[in-house]
Amino acid sequence: MNWEVVIGLEIHAQLATKSKLFSGAATSFGAEPNTNTTLVDLGMPGALPVFNKEALRMAVMFGHAVNAEIGMTSVFARKNYFYPDLPKGYQTSQMDHPIVGSGHLDVALEDGTVTRVGITRAHLEEDAGKSLHEDFQGMTGIDLNRSSTPLLEIVSEPDIRSAKEAVAYVKMIHSIVTYLGICDGNMAEGSMRCDVNLSLRPKGQQEYGTRTEIKNVNSFRFIEKAIYSEIERQMDILEDGGKIVQETRLYDPDKDETRSMRSKEDANDYRYFPCPDLLPIILEQSYVDDIKASLPELPTQKAKRFEEEYSLSEYDSGVLSSSRAMADYFEIAAKVSKNTKLAANWVMGEVSKFLNQENIEINQSPVSADALGLLLSRIEDNTINGKTAKDVFQCMWLGEGSADEIIDKKGLKQVTDTGAIEAMIQGVIDANPAQVEQFRASEPDKRKKMIGFFMGQVMKASQGKANPGLVTPILNKLLNG
Ligand code: ADP
Ligand code: MG
Repeated sequence: MNWEVVIGLEIHAQLATKSKLFSGAATSFGAEPNTNTTLVDLGMPGALPVFNKEALRMAVMFGHAVNAEIGMTSVFARKNYFYPDLPKGYQTSQMDHPIVGSGHLDVALEDGTVTRVGITRAHLEEDAGKSLHEDFQGMTGIDLNRSSTPLLEIVSEPDIRSAKEAVAYVKMIHSIVTYLGICDGNMAEGSMRCDVNLSLRPKGQQEYGTRTEIKNVNSFRFIEKAIYSEIERQMDILEDGGKIVQETRLYDPDKDETRSMRSKEDANDYRYFPCPDLLPIILEQSYVDDIKASLPELPTQKAKRFEEEYSLSEYDSGVLSSSRAMADYFEIAAKVSKNTKLAANWVMGEVSKFLNQENIEINQSPVSADALGLLLSRIEDNTINGKTAKDVFQCMWLGEGSADEIIDKKGLKQVTDTGAIEAMIQGVIDANPAQVEQFRASEPDKRKKMIGFFMGQVMKASQGKANPGLVTPILNKLLNG
């Protein structure tokens, strides 16, 4: 049977506010347990929540970035459930009137096609605390530092049709929230988590199949792997004539499989009702418009500008604008070196290679964008050639100094003295009489190929320091003469 995969994602992005959604406690990561808390976060009866306006502004920014309707009246609701790390017995969330309504995102795929993913809604809600098991033999520790941390839950339509599309969509959301500066995007610390809803249906069938929800997948790679393994599992069941049970599952990266966690609850199990402690949020049009006007350049806009302003290919522009940090790095290096194409090639080539080797992000690069720009300007002004520049870059990466210091210290400056170059070429000619004779006896189009041999010899003699632009004409002159 031919199956079609149907996926809808719920992404929780932790908003980068300094204080919590409903209290003045700090949101910083890694503090001593239960120190980033107030009576509100601890769920003390009678403690009243105070809404954080900064979270509102961030949610509205996001709404604009995904072409969504903004909820001009949004309402907080209580989602009731019992869990030790939720002392109030309810999570304050939004149900019928979310801050962000329906929108969409055009997602570029690796093969160059674009697929539109509908955004159902995005709502504000508070995070719960954390249960700790490791250091507590036979007991559970409760840390409420994360309690009431602001989250934006971004719900997609079931428009996604493959693991690759899902990852491309999540990467795009990641890039948007980090461009906007509303989330630090640190998936390892849980600042962005993803629930994957997945079902299969026979190709051509209109109706959706029964889905499962894989909770809290926290890396791009795990999203992809969790999807593959869940497709496999559902397919096995369906092809054996079985039925999928609607349930919540967990992905175990060690075993590369999903496991049942609990049967799926319905919205009415939570007995949602409007929170009596918080007034509805009513927005003025001018507030919404001002936020729209002040939106920073977004990834797709930046990619388009790179294409137009710097004449870069669509692919290069896409790669260089994939994160704001990378885009900024590239633009600085391009400006300092005054050679955009060279800067683009180096950022995507040498710099990315070193970053990947050490598994670090571009903002942790030991070579700053300015320093790279200066190195590239030494290629531009013929102080060194491209090959030597790679050696210099490696030294810079290892902290041996600036490009100029290293070029100086190691005597890497190109030979640009034409007299010296001519002498070197004459030496090569004298040492290779047979090749010279053969060259002189050849047709012009064959000569072009043979010149590479002499070029190589000259470069070898100069230890790579002869300026190729100067060598070529002199070499031609002496060989032909
Ligand atoms: P809930 O609130 O119970 O989690 P929703 O109906 O709001 O359920 O849907 C949550 C997510 O599940 C959405 O992203 C939606 O696109 C997705 N979804 C809904 N039905 C299906 C389905 N049959 N297959 C795959 N994904 C689905
Ligand atoms: Mg859900």
